[in-house]
Amino acid sequence: MHLYDAHNHLQDPRLGGNPAELMATAIKEGVVKMVVNGSCEEDWPAVAALARQFPQVVPSFGYHPWYVKERSPEWKEVLLNHLDEVPSAIGEIGLDRWLKDHDLPDQEEVFLWQLRLAAERGLPVSIHCLQAWGRLLELLQAAPLPRQGFLLHSYGGPQEMVSSLAKLGAYFSIPGYFVHERKSRQRETFRHVPPDRLLIETDAPDQSLPEERNRHPLHDPVTNKPVNHPANIRAVYEFTAELLAEPLESLSARVEENFQRLFGRTSSRT
Ligand SMILES: [Zn+2]
Repeated sequence: MHLYDAHNHLQDPRLGGNPAELMATAIKEGVVKMVVNGSCEEDWPAVAALARQFPQVVPSFGYHPWYVKERSPEWKEVLLNHLDEVPSAIGEIGLDRWLKDHDLPDQEEVFLWQLRLAAERGLPVSIHCLQAWGRLLELLQAAPLPRQGFLLHSYGGPQEMVSSLAKLGAYFSIPGYFVHERKSRQRETFRHVPPDRLLIETDAPDQSLPEERNRHPLHDPVTNKPVNHPANIRAVYEFTAELLAEPLESLSARVEENFQRLFGRTSSRT
């Protein structure tokens, strides 16, 4: 079975700084591709290095709304340089009103610039959104969008919005975190995602599965806090198969097609 992690942060130091070992474990579990998302200028070089090291990595570069305040005056040029360096996607970008002291106009400006860039270059884009779904939909309806579509990672928006977003080209990825009891609304929403728009993600090192499903326990070496291992993607597939009452084999075949349709061009190497 070929597994695809639509969204993680393999470069994150909380994973312990041994990407070769993490990757070997993920490959053993069946991973063939993973989209590794940079979040700010500081971690983009690490994402680029991982892409050079591992053919499984689809590198993605973007300014995450949590870090837009830290951007340098040259951030656009730095981003363009990374995009020119390797076949890549754009992300993680987005809007976040959950963040304390958020500056939404500033977030929107950075988001829209990157979204337009994705549309112009025909690159898939990964979007993070917390508590700003109405505004996101408005912006997406008004903006040029990449022709192959875009990913709403860890989609937690309203079920009623799924069809409008899908019409615009959205793909929706489900994280293992939605297994948790308190995430029942988010989990149920995924029963309404069009079959050809479903993707699966770990969001490692974040969004851990409950302990009984966590097959690869891992701890941040600095804080000793538990973190999510990217090899847990198989457990997320299993949970999704149960949720949708679909055999794992047909689910994985469908997710493979969806992944290739959205990210295929960026993951083929020149
Ligand atoms: Zn993320």
